[in-house]
Amino acid sequence: MLKPILSPVLAFVLMSGVLSFACAPSAEAKPDKRKAAQERARQIAGHNLALEGHTAFKQKRFDDAIAKFTEAAKLKPLDPSVNYFLGLSAMYKDDYKLAEKALSRVVVMSGPKDKFAVSALQCFDSRRKEFDRARPYSCLINGGKFWRWAKERMPINVYLSNGSQLPKGFVGNDLNPQKMKQLSGWFRDPKFVSRLQVLRHFRPEYASAVKAGLNDWGWANTEGFLKYQIVDDPSKADILVFYCSTLNGNLPSMSTIPEGRHDPVVVQFPVEYFYKLPLDTWPTVIRSIAGHEFGHAFGLQHSDFKRDLMYPTDKIKFVHRNTDQTGPNVVTNNDAATLRALYDLPAPILKK
Ligand SMILES: [Zn+2]
Repeated sequence: MLKPILSPVLAFVLMSGVLSFACAPSAEAKPDKRKAAQERARQIAGHNLALEGHTAFKQKRFDDAIAKFTEAAKLKPLDPSVNYFLGLSAMYKDDYKLAEKALSRVVVMSGPKDKFAVSALQCFDSRRKEFDRARPYSCLINGGKFWRWAKERMPINVYLSNGSQLPKGFVGNDLNPQKMKQLSGWFRDPKFVSRLQVLRHFRPEYASAVKAGLNDWGWANTEGFLKYQIVDDPSKADILVFYCSTLNGNLPSMSTIPEGRHDPVVVQFPVEYFYKLPLDTWPTVIRSIAGHEFGHAFGLQHSDFKRDLMYPTDKIKFVHRNTDQTGPNVVTNNDAATLRALYDLPAPILKK
């Protein structure tokens, strides 16, 4: 028997007949007139397909609804309404694989208080077993946009330094997106990184633990939607890892996402923070901190679920205790569902 989850969104749609009221984040660049006309035509075609989908949905013809919303989602991939109703229709047909994909996209592309995201999360909460206990989270950053690496850029090249620190003025919190352009120019010289100073308290084991944190995303490589590889040449890197003594606020890690599309992401880890970790826990703690930071470098934002790898690391007191008896956080089903959905979306800000 059909047990509908009559969410506020669905109730609103059924009452008012309004089919789409949430806006997708707009793209950065202004398209030319021809492109704008093509885009308008796509939107209208997508809207009409969504209308047909809603008619089928209301008549409980869920197979038809899935077909219509699937086509509509191809034309309007950043429309939360279309993705939400695709997910709901799939759920009513017990196709939880498709439902998870569509509903995860809604959550990832929306703010946590967006009506469709709230309703999508109600679906995940009400069918935890069917959704394999996955509960995705928003990937919006300040300004209501999200980003991810473009397929054309893959594999993403990751350079892991052996304890070196960026030049003065670029270390830790001194590095900001505006300074990345200058730094990017220097990285093109392969000898630049070899001349950097290695921090006194750095231990090679830290680099091994950081590498283990990166490898915790290896399943994404295996699945193939996010390809990355470690490179020895920093001039070829898309993500560069360096160290510093400390970070403001005693943060355990920091990523700088550049404004320029061609500039790399820089991740920095504070050696003094690592140095003060309890000896028996630091390999797994550093691995967890590094895994979290690479999550950011791949486009993920914070989760508010305490056991997710993307739960804010500054809310966890790694220095004083080993989080809890089960140890530091690792990639959860929530993190995995979120990353898959992020790379299932055409991001408005593509890193090309
Ligand atoms: Zn973080």
